[in-house]
Amino acid sequence: MSPFAVLPVRTPTLPPATHTNVYRLGDCVIDPASPEPREQERVLAWAGKVGRILLTHHHADHIGGVEALAAATGAPVWAHADARVPFPVHHRIHDGDLIDTGAGTLVALHTPGHADGHLAYQLVNTGHIIAGDLVAGEGTIVLLQPEGDLQRYLDSLARVRALADTLWPAHGPPQPASLADAYIAHRHHRTAQFLNVLRAGEPDRTLMADQIAAMVYSGLPGVNLQLAAMQVHTHLLWLAERGQARSVGEAWAAA
Ligand SMILES: [Zn+2]
Repeated sequence: MSPFAVLPVRTPTLPPATHTNVYRLGDCVIDPASPEPREQERVLAWAGKVGRILLTHHHADHIGGVEALAAATGAPVWAHADARVPFPVHHRIHDGDLIDTGAGTLVALHTPGHADGHLAYQLVNTGHIIAGDLVAGEGTIVLLQPEGDLQRYLDSLARVRALADTLWPAHGPPQPASLADAYIAHRHHRTAQFLNVLRAGEPDRTLMADQIAAMVYSGLPGVNLQLAAMQVHTHLLWLAERGQARSVGEAWAAA
């Protein structure tokens, strides 16, 4: 049985997702996400008595309905100290904070990497974690500059993997926590591919991130090469921090 109530709402999110899950436990509603008035009305009718609005993170496809729900219910907005949102936050959440919802206690887990101030919420003494954008029911998660940070993301995945049996993502159905292992392996696989491309060919070859993306992702169906190039860039920064790649102007080379 699901420990949380879940309502997917239509949002301007990245394909293949089209919806964001709104979660509810006790009097807490997490990520009332949709900017569309009809979707906001659905959330209001579904939510019942709302005592607090909690955020996983500040991305547009998670916060579009926050102001409307706050205005309709008078509920305060709670978010991590590093979350940057265009509306008032009434309470800043810190890692390890306990939130008594009236129907169970949530533990806040600061899990950055995809977004600064990203929070996951574990139902205390269970393996159920509301995972925000750490994982998705379909596809992978994008790490975009300037806030995308591969090492912090890997650390966050490892952290929830150690605590969870089931991850409840912001997009798509619940997932076994072992999906986090697959995501970690996938990231290391991609890093190795990008490094291999840099190391191939003549010494001192330099490549732009979009050229690397075109070489690694070409032929894969449904790939957005612009987003792919941004992923490559995030991985190259990770390699540069470890002395395995270096930037040459706007381009990159193996170190
Ligand atoms: Zn996000």
